[in-house]
Parts: sequence; structure tokens; C-alpha cells
Amino acid sequence: MRQVPNYADTRQLSWCVYCGGSSKGTRDHVPSKVLIDKPFPDNLPVVGACQPCNSSFSPDEEYLACLIACTLAGSADPDHPQRENVRNILRKRPSLQARLAAAKAENPDGTLL
Ligand SMILES: [Zn+2]
Repeated sequence: MRQVPNYADTRQLSWCVYCGGSSKGTRDHVPSKVLIDKPFPDNLPVVGACQPCNSSFSPDEEYLACLIACTLAGSADPDHPQRENVRNILRKRPSLQARLAAAKAENPDGTLL
């Protein structure tokens, strides 16, 4: 994965990019690991992020990853998405699987809306 050089002042690297608070050594992967499959690149970019900000995005990132995979599969059935990571998330979080299944809408010809 190509890294973009960081020309920021090193003092700015200790700040949370989302809220400006102290990142205290925690980092957020960009893109989120839930959106890509293993093996992860050794140089997966990271940004400083405080723990509250970092963990607060996880449910949204899981939802997005599952929404994309279920849309591509045409189903929220945990056996259908191509990505193993998404299948595992849907099995572990039946409420998320149910939300995605309920959100599916089809045209009369079976194509997805
Ligand atoms: Zn923050």
C-alpha cells in the first residue's frame, strides 16, 4: 500500500485527528481493518486517534462493511457474503443481520433498489 508522507509537525501527530484531544499512543487504521481482508499490508496507514473516537467508529465501520458485502451478495444471509470477515460479523451480531435484511428492497423484477 502506498504511503503518503506525513509532513505535519511532529507535535500534531500526538493529537486525535477527529476531536483534537490527546491520542495517547492509540492509532486508527485508515482504511479501517474491517473494510479490507487479511493479510493486511505491513504499511497500513494509521492516524492518531483517542480511544473514545477510535472505538466509537467501530459499529459504523462494521455496518458499512456488512452493507457493502450484503449488497454485493444480494442477501443479508450470513452464508452469502463473499468476505469471511463479514460472514463472521453477521453471525456474531444477529441484530445487525436483521437490520440489513429488513432494509433490503427489491423491484418487482427482483433487482435491488
Ligand atoms: Zn478523539
